[in-house]
Amino acid sequence: MRVSILASGSSGNITLLETERTRLLVDAGLGKRETLARLAAAGRTVEQLDGILITHEHTDHCNGLPQMLGLWKAPLYVTEPTMDAMQRMLPVTFGKRLKRVETIQPGQHFAVGDIDVHAFAIPHDAADPIGFTFRSNGAKMAMVTDLGYMPELVKVHLRAADCLVLESNHDLDMLKVGPYPWVVKQRVLSRTGHLSNHAVSEYLSDREFEVLKLLAAGKSVSDIGEQISLSASTVSTYRARILTKMNLKTNADLTLYSVEHKLI
Ligand SMILES: [Zn+2]
Repeated sequence: MRVSILASGSSGNITLLETERTRLLVDAGLGKRETLARLAAAGRTVEQLDGILITHEHTDHCNGLPQMLGLWKAPLYVTEPTMDAMQRMLPVTFGKRLKRVETIQPGQHFAVGDIDVHAFAIPHDAADPIGFTFRSNGAKMAMVTDLGYMPELVKVHLRAADCLVLESNHDLDMLKVGPYPWVVKQRVLSRTGHLSNHAVSEYLSDREFEVLKLLAAGKSVSDIGEQISLSASTVSTYRARILTKMNLKTNADLTLYSVEHKLI
């Protein structure tokens, strides 16, 4: 699987996900010219797309649809509440140009070509916001943008992903003193707003610390992977990072250090 972030941020979000046989676009937050240019930069054309998935109706995720639907033949995968919300918000050309729509639901698995897609509900202030996991040829990719906080259930979906695309939206202190109106600050900080850099780093360091404790206890990379549902390659990456950070060379060094510093 290959993942290309074609656009990310409040002015537009588009992600391209590909296998040798299948190409999916997640969200369509940019206008026609930019979308085509960025697809071309990734070596792709609109005709090569097999599906367009929409996470939620906020304009930075679906603004490009009315224009792009004139060019796309691939079906649009979207939940019913998100579709209703988009029809209310987007220009009438959106409804007129709609051709193939596949209605999906959070909790549902479906296949597009050789990619198995799983949609799941996430907390965000939209009609029916969803995240996705994608599986193909034994690899798993997880994608969650626009997320208010990290519920246990979302963590379960992200487990054992070989690649994770996760929003990290703002620095808490910068947001608090920043020039935004109070309502915007409140919205971003709420449980249905956006994840802070701090929340993301806590989530990631939790996993790293779990790996550290198990390595220090003498477990092998594959045993750890099985125990905490991470792929072996992810555990190896964590292991390398932990050893580099702590300036250690072997697992035995790590055990010694962890005992000395009462980490385990
Ligand atoms: Zn949003």
